[in-house]
Amino acid sequence: MPVPPAQSLVLTFEDARRVVEDHASRQAAGPAETVDLLHAAGRVLAEPIIADRDIPPFPRSTRDGYAVRSADLASLPARLKVIGEVKAGPLPDKVPPILNPGETVSIMTGAPAPRGTDAVVMVEYTSQHGDLVEISRRVAPGENIVPQGAEGKHGSLMVDRGARLDEADVALAASVGKSRLQVFVRPRIAVLTTGDEIAEIDATPGPVQIRNSNSYSLAVQIQQAGGEPVLLPIAPDEPRRLRHLIEEGLQSDLLLMTGGVSMGRYDLVEQVLGEMHAEFFFTGAKIQPGRPVVFGRCGAGTPAREALTRTSLPDRAHKYFFGLPGNPVSTMVTFELFARPMLEALAGKSPRPLRFLHARLKSDIRVKTGLTRFLPAILSGEYTNSHAELVPWQGSGDIAARARANCYIVIPPDREHILAGEWVAILPR
Ligand code: AMP
Ligand code: MG
Repeated sequence: MPVPPAQSLVLTFEDARRVVEDHASRQAAGPAETVDLLHAAGRVLAEPIIADRDIPPFPRSTRDGYAVRSADLASLPARLKVIGEVKAGPLPDKVPPILNPGETVSIMTGAPAPRGTDAVVMVEYTSQHGDLVEISRRVAPGENIVPQGAEGKHGSLMVDRGARLDEADVALAASVGKSRLQVFVRPRIAVLTTGDEIAEIDATPGPVQIRNSNSYSLAVQIQQAGGEPVLLPIAPDEPRRLRHLIEEGLQSDLLLMTGGVSMGRYDLVEQVLGEMHAEFFFTGAKIQPGRPVVFGRCGAGTPAREALTRTSLPDRAHKYFFGLPGNPVSTMVTFELFARPMLEALAGKSPRPLRFLHARLKSDIRVKTGLTRFLPAILSGEYTNSHAELVPWQGSGDIAARARANCYIVIPPDREHILAGEWVAILPR
């Protein structure tokens, strides 16, 4: 018979999330490695990206037109003498280093505005005849010119370590000449699925067997969150083998288990972890789906050979684990809500709060109070008119319903009846 852990600790969603964030914030980042810029997207930056010169390096015109001294346009139409042309690229010899009153140059987008000029008049408000241009519109000082260094001063921090690199960060790195970047080594995240009824996907399942889908959905989520999944064999509902596999999983940087955390007679995960003197921070959260979610940590034990390889994080005093409920949608939701922030911390990423979008509800929702719900839904509509609607589902085992959904509608625990047209929080997928 399973023995439940010392006490059952069921927290509200907010409290459970806070507990995870708390532990996550105390994780030291692991070792770094150097990658080519083309392979840096999605990785977590381990060095600051610093501007190696002013950005832009010269006052940059944002328009095609004429670079002027704005004071020359006091009375309109103004006639100025065109003494040359600057395009993006090297300054032509013909253009003097500084313009005098009454002079202008024609200028292209991205070209440096010559000294003495303080604005660019768009070509649309000009007409040039020979070397004279007539200008029909005034410009304020600074108009259509980005001052030198306005986007970043030489030596200033452009992207801080801990950022997950996206295309804009990569563009910034490129623009300061970083062709290689130091990024944190991806943490290894062990996945251990449990249950006598679970079959490997390449075996023919018996009539009441269920194919293992959780290891695969978790592998995807782990990769998307910046980790490297390590899939362990399926653990039977048998304490000795389960313990052996849990110990193996604890050699990775984080252990995610699925199944075996409900209150059933063969839900052995907590019992086995209890025997291993694990510390439990919660053994349930007031959420749906995903109520039986477990979070805790174990002493790290003796490192196995793989933990000593170059790519694993330094040995930590404790290894954290999550027991995620076995129902596939519960597994996906609880990964997103709880495992992800810990994984990201181990990956060296700076913490960020869970972000929600908001959309109008398409049709009424009735639920019981007491749980924060994350229900599969479809967000549709366009521009300012987006709305969300629940996907009909058979409960937290219904992977097909989740696959039809593109988000979760979040329902706070005190709401019973939410009316069509109300704004609801959306957790995007
Ligand atoms: P448990 O949390 O072990 O009580 O499992 C809850 C439900 O999830 C049961 O219907 C299991 O068959 C199902 N389940 C558990 N593990 C998996 C898995 N790896 N893939 C698909 N379904 C699973
Ligand atoms: Mg089970």
